[in-house]
Amino acid sequence: MKRGLLVIISGPSGVGKGTVRKYFEKKEELNLVYSTSMTTRKPRNGEVNGKDYFFVSREEFLKAIDNNELLEYAEFVGNYYGTPISEVNRLRDEGKNVLLEIEVQGAKQVQEKCPDAISIFIIPPSLEELEKRIRGRNSEPEEIVQQRLSKAEKELKLVNQYKYIVCNDDPELAASLIETIILRNIEIEENK
Ligand code: 5GP
Repeated sequence: MKRGLLVIISGPSGVGKGTVRKYFEKKEELNLVYSTSMTTRKPRNGEVNGKDYFFVSREEFLKAIDNNELLEYAEFVGNYYGTPISEVNRLRDEGKNVLLEIEVQGAKQVQEKCPDAISIFIIPPSLEELEKRIRGRNSEPEEIVQQRLSKAEKELKLVNQYKYIVCNDDPELAASLIETIILRNIEIEENK
């Protein structure tokens, strides 16, 4: 059996990575499984432990780093985020394609460790629209909103690091473009 593909979706906070993902992740032909990350951030309203994230303490996260349990990790606006490696390997060994939805520092680490990963960067139609989306979540104090926005401006400069760039003007359209990218890569892999 062929090993599953590793798909990285990255892009600034608030660009709609999660919203776009919801449109394509259930498509059976993609054979795609979302890798749940670990974070020290507190859950937002409605977020479920083990599904949206594994919510852990700083001590637990640092222990996971020490034990080499993470494929990548990064500090983002005061919290740690990382990808548990064992689940990614298990799923790929079973032939499933694995989706990572991560920020840019983590994406860079994965690209270095797994050069055959398919990397997709989602950009917003404009910075004004990005700000509107971040504020629309209404979940964070002004200081954090400002930090996320200034981080986003820096992250957008790293667009060249990615193989594919998709603009999220309309989430359904962005999702169908991503679906096409993944399907084409599955086809290429099958014909190797
Ligand atoms: P949020 O707090 O909005 O859920 O996530 C903040 C940022 O961290 C987002 O850009 C999100 O994609 C990213 N992120 C989520 N999980 C991971 C992860 O496992 N590793 C890295 N490097 N970034 C992550």
